[in-house]
Amino acid sequence: MNESLICANLSVGDEGVLRFAGQDVRALAGYYGTPLYLMDERRIRDNCRRYRRAAEESFGGQSCVLYASKAASFRYIYEIVNEEGLHVDVVSPGEIHTAAAAGFPMERVWFHSNNKSDEDIAYAVEMRVGFFVVDCMEELEALDRIAGEAGIRQDVLLRVTPGIDPHTFEAVATGKVDSKFGFPMADGQADEAFHAALRAENLALRGFHCHVGSQVFDSDVFLLSAEVMLDYMARLRAETGYVAERLDLGGGYGVRYLPEQPELDIEGNIACVGAFIRKKCAALGYPMPAISLEPGRSIVADAGLTLYTVGAVKRILGLVNYVSVDGGMTDNVRYAMYHAPYTVLPADRMNEPRDTVFSVVGRCCESGDVIQPGVPLPDGIRRGDLIAVCTTGAYNYSMASNYNRIPRPPVVMLRDGDCFTAVRRESLEDLLRLDA
Ligand SMILES: *Cc1c(COP(=O)(O)O)cnc(C)c1O
Repeated sequence: MNESLICANLSVGDEGVLRFAGQDVRALAGYYGTPLYLMDERRIRDNCRRYRRAAEESFGGQSCVLYASKAASFRYIYEIVNEEGLHVDVVSPGEIHTAAAAGFPMERVWFHSNNKSDEDIAYAVEMRVGFFVVDCMEELEALDRIAGEAGIRQDVLLRVTPGIDPHTFEAVATGKVDSKFGFPMADGQADEAFHAALRAENLALRGFHCHVGSQVFDSDVFLLSAEVMLDYMARLRAETGYVAERLDLGGGYGVRYLPEQPELDIEGNIACVGAFIRKKCAALGYPMPAISLEPGRSIVADAGLTLYTVGAVKRILGLVNYVSVDGGMTDNVRYAMYHAPYTVLPADRMNEPRDTVFSVVGRCCESGDVIQPGVPLPDGIRRGDLIAVCTTGAYNYSMASNYNRIPRPPVVMLRDGDCFTAVRRESLEDLLRLDA
């Protein structure tokens, strides 16, 4: 049944029990309980290293890779990413605070977000984050003032919206730029922000940022955004003499959720983007800026696996079969939110034929609480069996909630045959912690 094993860190062991990062998932579920998030530390580190090496080779030594930490944010992740020499992209004081608690060097922290309050800005300035990626005029003005009060000159990038539709790989026409993020390039707002940033006494404009794709498998989106951005930078230079030191092309590289999806060729894609940028810079006579990328999902997604225990099997004749598990939209909201696909496996019945189609649903009081519909599973699946959902390392724990007063599962790291808790399971007492 190897057709379903979508990542090299999965295998099937004795008695048809799934193994993850070389470890028997039934033993892990027995020890830690379910629902349970597992993370393969080796895979996270390998993903970091592949990006870092590829960026150095293709973009040069000035380049850097940022881990977009909203994909999975807890203290231990920042420790790993720090050891691997990446920078991090954060979007809130909470992520900054967590990174700081992990000892992450603040000069390698880049602060994003389309709406940073004065308090957010003051906190990040006080923490001395390396870069602000400025998203709107209100932020630019507030940051200039707050940096001035703190007596510093803050490094910033401007986030611009190049007007590219990642689904069609086309630059969309003027006026169709409808993102809530960044300064639209097409209608002059980006130019306005650029001039304001140059005028701002307490800001040092280092360059530009854009982020257009998500779950992208080839470099077209990055080539197109690099082209639009470099043309834009060349125009600004012609008009003002300003030369940008940095260009950040954002994140969005795809991961394999289903067997029929490809596995991303990180090195090949980055080499392609690097070659394109060099050629384009040469053609424009523009000094090659320090390029950065911000992968989130593709650093952590395939390092994650979620385990559940089946509680009920319900057959509604001629309509649908349900398998209800002990978690749901509280630990994985992605199907409920945008019908995200997942590979779901009968973790302790891997050698049995999967001859019946089930909807795997959660325990929440919400009909939309579906982990995944249309999942082939053994007909004999029953209460007490284990279900594994693959590729859950990104946007699962970080989006988890306490809906229905359900405690969030722990995050258990697997490393070299060893296992340890990175985030402990919430207790019933934890749920009352904030009640006054
Ligand atoms: C979400 C986000 C990323 C990461 O996207 P992935 O699809 O997880 O790689 C990078 N940069 C910005 C600005 C983002 O908002």
